[in-house]
Amino acid sequence: MSTASLSKPKIAISACLLGEEVRFNGGHKESRLCSRTLAEYFDFVPLCPEVAIGMGIPREPIRLVGDPQQPEAVGTVNPSINVTRPLAEYGEKMAGELQDLCGYIFMQQSPSCGLERVKVYHANGAPVNGGGRGIYAQAFCAQHPDLPVEEAGRLNDPVLRENFITRVLAYSAWQQVLAQGLSRRALTEFHSRYKYLLMAHNPLQYKALGKLLGNMADSDPAELGPRYFSELMAALKKCATRGTHCNVLLHISGYLKQSLSAEDKQEMQQVIGQYRQGIVPLVVPLTLLKHHFRLHPDPYIAQQVYLQPHPENLSLRNAI
Ligand code: SF4
Repeated sequence: MSTASLSKPKIAISACLLGEEVRFNGGHKESRLCSRTLAEYFDFVPLCPEVAIGMGIPREPIRLVGDPQQPEAVGTVNPSINVTRPLAEYGEKMAGELQDLCGYIFMQQSPSCGLERVKVYHANGAPVNGGGRGIYAQAFCAQHPDLPVEEAGRLNDPVLRENFITRVLAYSAWQQVLAQGLSRRALTEFHSRYKYLLMAHNPLQYKALGKLLGNMADSDPAELGPRYFSELMAALKKCATRGTHCNVLLHISGYLKQSLSAEDKQEMQQVIGQYRQGIVPLVVPLTLLKHHFRLHPDPYIAQQVYLQPHPENLSLRNAI
């Protein structure tokens, strides 16, 4: 994908992360990763649920109170302010309206937008053990269980960042398959392109999903497709490790065994070994592999998403 792509995949985002001054104190929480780097490749849809339900800027801060599984959002100073229902209703409304998203980046620790471990309190102000999920985020995510979602803070971790963007682009690719019409052939071709990526993320699910499609016989793709995709998205949530990446790199380099000299093969093995030991990042063995495949093209490998699951200029594999 290039920056010139006509339509970039859409990602919803907590508006304060794009630098909008919508927080309770009139401030923002700009994430430059989002506002500068990712904005080149994705169209952001900024949303601030607390402003949207009419709480105004500045406003009294709210917090989660009660059962962490089902908390209420109430005023920190004035607990008679309870915005649980409007936040949840706004989440449901936006989930219904925004059907063309490929991901959502939420602000962490927010009683509205936080995805996990948001502080929850007893009515008397003492903290409850364990955290909860923001009211709006909970309502939104319940309607889009397969949508890749992540908190901005976690995107500072290079492995989680690479994983999230990979999932967003897989989601986007699936939307294109759906737009073109889901058939058994389309399903098989999609799976075939994702084979090595899936193997790197989740070797067990790689086998299970292969079986699921292998047994599809006469099943209706309209029924099988969504099931396959849900399982794929769940499988991709698991981050690939150095070990699983090495396994995939070795599998892929096996396609070059007729074409490479003994020296080139040895160099390839050595670079994969250096990656395994953490001496070089993933981009190094991949660049060498791509170089050899440019000289000795292989149509099956050429279509593998694993080789370039996200725009090269994001350099996501330089840091893992
Ligand atoms: S965390 Fe959510 S509710 Fe709070 S300011 Fe940011 S977008 Fe608005």
